[in-house]
Amino acid sequence: MKIGVLALQGAVKEHCQALAALGIESLQVKYREELDQIAGLIIPGGESTTVGKLLVRNQMMEPLRELGRQGFPIFGTCTGMILLAKDLDGIKQPGIALMEMTVVRNAFGRQIASFEAELDISEIGEEPYKAIFIRAPYVTSVGAGVQVLSELDDKILLVREGNLLAAAFHPELTADYRIHQYFVDICRQQRRLSA
Ligand code: GLN
Repeated sequence: MKIGVLALQGAVKEHCQALAALGIESLQVKYREELDQIAGLIIPGGESTTVGKLLVRNQMMEPLRELGRQGFPIFGTCTGMILLAKDLDGIKQPGIALMEMTVVRNAFGRQIASFEAELDISEIGEEPYKAIFIRAPYVTSVGAGVQVLSELDDKILLVREGNLLAAAFHPELTADYRIHQYFVDICRQQRRLSA
C-alpha cells in the first residue's frame, strides 16, 4: 500500500519520512494521474491560497473532491485542513470543500508564528500528544457527521469525517507518529471496504 503526499508546496519530505518510519511507502503527488496509484493522500502545510491555485492549475481539484466523496482517504494538515473545509468563515478561495466544518485561517493571530501545545487525543492513546502549530487555523464549528478528536480552550484542532481527517497542527514535525499511524489505519480500512 502506497500513500501519497501532495507535493505542490510545503512540508512534503517530512510527511514521507513519517510514513517511512511506519514502514509505509510514499509517493510525492503532483499530477492527477498519480492519484490512481495511492491508497490515500496527505495534504501538507504551506499556503492554502497557493496550493488551491496549483490544484486548479493541475486539474486536480475536481478529481480529488470526487474521490473524497467516494471514500478515498484524505488527511489535511494545516493548509490541508483549510482546503478540506466547506466554510472558511466568509472567505472565498479555491478548496476541495468536502468537510462539514467552519475553519478560520491564521486563527491564533498572524503575529503568533508558531507554538507548541499538549493535546489529549483519546483515539491515539492516553499519552498526551505534543502538537506544533505554525500560523495555524482552527475549526470553530462542525456538522453532525464530524467527529471532534481533539480540542483545546474551545478551539477544535483535530477532526474526522469518515474517510477524511484534518489537523490544525503539523504532525510531521514531531517524532510521535501516532497521528500518521491513525491515518494509515483509515487507509487500510478503506482499502478493505473497497476490495
Ligand atoms: N496560514 C496558512 C494558510 O492559510 C497555513 C499555515 C500552514 O500550513 N502552516 O494556508
